[in-house]
Amino acid sequence: MNHVLFPLPSEKGKGILVTMTSSGDYLVGPSSEFVDDKDDLSTDAPTLKDVRSQASRMVPNIPFYEQIRVFSGLRATPSTHDFIIEPSKKYADFINVAGIESPGLASSPAIGEYVVEELVRKVLPLKEKKSFNPKIKPYIKVKPMGEEERAKFVREHPNYGEIICNCEQVSLGEIEDVLSRSLPCLTIKAVKKRTRAGFGKCQGGFCQPHVLMLLAQKRGVSPMEILYDKDGSNIILKESK
Ligand SMILES: Cc1cc2nc3c(=O)[nH]c(=O)nc-3n(C[C@H](O)[C@H](O)[C@H](O)COP(=O)(O)OP(=O)(O)OC[C@H]3O[C@@H](n4cnc5c(N)ncnc54)[C@H](O)[C@@H]3O)c2cc1C
Repeated sequence: MNHVLFPLPSEKGKGILVTMTSSGDYLVGPSSEFVDDKDDLSTDAPTLKDVRSQASRMVPNIPFYEQIRVFSGLRATPSTHDFIIEPSKKYADFINVAGIESPGLASSPAIGEYVVEELVRKVLPLKEKKSFNPKIKPYIKVKPMGEEERAKFVREHPNYGEIICNCEQVSLGEIEDVLSRSLPCLTIKAVKKRTRAGFGKCQGGFCQPHVLMLLAQKRGVSPMEILYDKDGSNIILKESK
């Protein structure tokens, strides 16, 4: 597969697609179901079966036996059937940018510009910060490097030769890099999303304890304080010995 494959869209959305991710894995889905519970992130067998059968109409013989995991998310569907971008009716200084459904990602540069120019600038005097640097330091990944390039790089940066996540080939150097950037990376899931450590077949079975210890070391806290994601998602609950 070299392309994102979409079926014909319907009023429920763009349908079930088959797509290759930027890291070389495949995503099949999503479905689109209305749910009442705002915390319901469960998947169910009939919907997964439907996802499989619809995707198989576009790409026959998808090896579903190699599937790593299934998951679901919640989309906030606005009753206006359009983006809601306006000052809050309760608090004029609070600007709602809500119900940003597809194509919200493609629209985000325009949404940002609109919010700043049309809404913020009218209530706040804005001055350009001359020292602002819009460029971020590139993320160096060893996985896509060729053998020679990787060997040379590792000679100069030995921490990039120590693999922490075997499945996704994420090195110690990559994890140390995200833990040292100005944008805080405080949880195991934050490290996962930035480096892909824990995304692979073993789902963190191998690398999670290492990532946990690196986080604890970097933050200077006890490993028991490190969360997987939200409050209460501590991995280590107590010392046994
Ligand atoms: C399956 C799917 C396919 C899509 N495909 C496309 C596409 O091809 N092209 C395109 O342009 N757009 C696409 N979109 C839409 C796009 O992803 C969204 O428009 C965009 O992500 C909306 O950005 P946002 O920042 O408004 O919300 P989000 O990206 O949803 O960000 C909201 C953030 O707030 C956090 N949050 C929520 N509640 C709380 C809380 N109480 N406390 C703290 N944090 C909280 C969430 O964890 C999340 O990180 C797609 C969406 C889906 C679901």
